Amino acid sequence: MSVRSISKEALIGSATLGVVFFAGYYFGKKKSKHSSMDIFKSHSGAKDNPLMQYVLNHSLREHPALKNLRLRTMEDSWSFIMVASEQAQLMANLAKLIQAKKAIEIGVYTGYNALSMALTLPDDGTVIACDVNEDYVNIGKPFWKEAGVEHKIDLRIQPALKTLDDLLEAGEGETFDFVFIDADKANYDNYYEKSLQLLRKGGIICIDNVLWSGKVVNPAPDDIDTQAIDKLNKKLYRDVRISLSMLTVGDGLTLAIKL
Ligand code: CA
Repeated sequence: MSVRSISKEALIGSATLGVVFFAGYYFGKKKSKHSSMDIFKSHSGAKDNPLMQYVLNHSLREHPALKNLRLRTMEDSWSFIMVASEQAQLMANLAKLIQAKKAIEIGVYTGYNALSMALTLPDDGTVIACDVNEDYVNIGKPFWKEAGVEHKIDLRIQPALKTLDDLLEAGEGETFDFVFIDADKANYDNYYEKSLQLLRKGGIICIDNVLWSGKVVNPAPDDIDTQAIDKLNKKLYRDVRISLSMLTVGDGLTLAIKL
């Protein structure tokens, strides 16, 4: 089945990671009274912003395979959800800083960030890439191969909570260095709690979309996604198991460092 052939019913009917997140984001975005400038991303909200162009011109060092995957992803109608290049580079630098070898990505889409992470990890490093939709991941796979790092990406096509449970049951608790959470928002807290169990001390969890186009400031009563994000943001603020930063990068990026 091609990506574009997925019906709206199929999108809404797939009550798991990924596609529901896409739908929620899309429809939520359309309803938002906030402008797209609330999302400071180089390929969507801040695309034509001169300051963003300056940032890219003076900092982005994109691997050729990453650039090719980004350009290919831009042909897809959901490309606005892709992790921005500058954010992927930031997370790769964080992973490098803590000498990460084992990473988890929850929500892969076309695999831009999974590739960025694989390029950063040492040759015996691994990214456990979690998603339920292989059609989008298949867009990225040739570029993983082009970069020569496909052996570092361990793709698990099933609900991410199942994959995280599998890792815990396999005795891999407290062995991971880096986790990126970027999937369905209703499960964010579950992803966070399981990720924290899998993370070693000093490891980092990055959580995407924590500002959700600005909607977290005043969540609507019927907006389950915004409420889930806001609830997790409030919980993390008081969570003594981590040190914390919330960055206004992209659509908001939280860094939780395990103490
Ligand atoms: Ca995201």
